[in-house]
Amino acid sequence: MTEVEIRGVSKRYTEAPILKGVDLDIHAGELFFLLGPSGCGKSTLLRILAGLVEADAGTVRFDGEDILTLPPEKRRTAMVFQNYALWPHLSVFENVAFAPRNSGYPKSRIRETVGRALEVVEMAEFAQRKPPSLSGGQQQRVALARALAAEPRLLLLDEPLSNLDARLRDAMRGKIKAICKARKLTALYVTHDRQEALSMADRIAVMHRGVIRHLGTPEEVYNHPGDCFTAKFLGDVNFIPGELGGDGTFRSALGVLPIAAENVSAGPAVGAIRPERIRFAAPGEAGFAAKLVGRTFLGESCEWDFESSGVHLVVREGAPPARRIGETYQLNFEPGFFMALPREDADE
Ligand code: ADP
Ligand code: MG
Repeated sequence: MTEVEIRGVSKRYTEAPILKGVDLDIHAGELFFLLGPSGCGKSTLLRILAGLVEADAGTVRFDGEDILTLPPEKRRTAMVFQNYALWPHLSVFENVAFAPRNSGYPKSRIRETVGRALEVVEMAEFAQRKPPSLSGGQQQRVALARALAAEPRLLLLDEPLSNLDARLRDAMRGKIKAICKARKLTALYVTHDRQEALSMADRIAVMHRGVIRHLGTPEEVYNHPGDCFTAKFLGDVNFIPGELGGDGTFRSALGVLPIAAENVSAGPAVGAIRPERIRFAAPGEAGFAAKLVGRTFLGESCEWDFESSGVHLVVREGAPPARRIGETYQLNFEPGFFMALPREDADE
């Protein structure tokens, strides 16, 4: 189990800065996610840790030891790539045996290490096959076994499930998480897929344009995102322009409503509420009037479109009853889930 400390890591390939002073602490044994849109610099950070790309500035420590000055092979990281990157002409066994052989282990230990890694990913029976004769999912499991056999101090995973179909992806999420936990690995997992991050992570850092925007547990980043970019990147959300008062209220076209302030002081702000946190008010309960103008049926839930004083709201309801388009309903927000966020980046 390795404690990882990243400080002030910056990188530019040309003039444009790609990483702008990234600071991160990854706890020993943690499955840590870096989540962000394509092009924000996620792979660049992984490559810097692995030693495939050189940082312009900053330090990285594994258990206090500075590793950026070490050659790649001395850092003991192992990477799983989106495209597997297996050697097609070598058997599965030989692919997985690469790191233990390089370590100069005796034959018996190599056999044992490779055998164990292939067992973990349930690929032992394919040891003599060549990668091109395997399915995408099987190749990805071999790539994972190869990384495990390297006994890394830090396991790096770069969008490892992006090439798999949805069903296999779901199955592999649980599997990768279980393996990391059983082996007490410290792992840094990069993805643009919020479901993957929310369902697997111990903690998530949300990255945007080379900067960490927010960091926390899946519940924290989803429920208390801190800014509009993070709120939107993690799921559907309604934004309502308005004015945050000093007394925990928010004044907008919907009236004066109680609000939890996040990272913003009194004044112009954006009220944010997730569709599943808007409720139909019970008789006698406080609320505001909104007209139902549209409906999207999603099977287990329904998305209702509402208009209220010029504000458009999407409301998600599980096990939806029949409701009438054109009718006016009383709605309210679940206490604690209506957040005030800084206004400046609402449109990003
Ligand atoms: P992500 O993994 O988040 O999609 P990357 O780290 O791969 O992002 O890339 C971040 C930015 O850096 C992108 O704009 C990409 O085009 C650019 N980039 C990546 N690698 C290189 C390179 N070797 N030379 C020049 N630009 C690069
Ligand atoms: Mg990438």
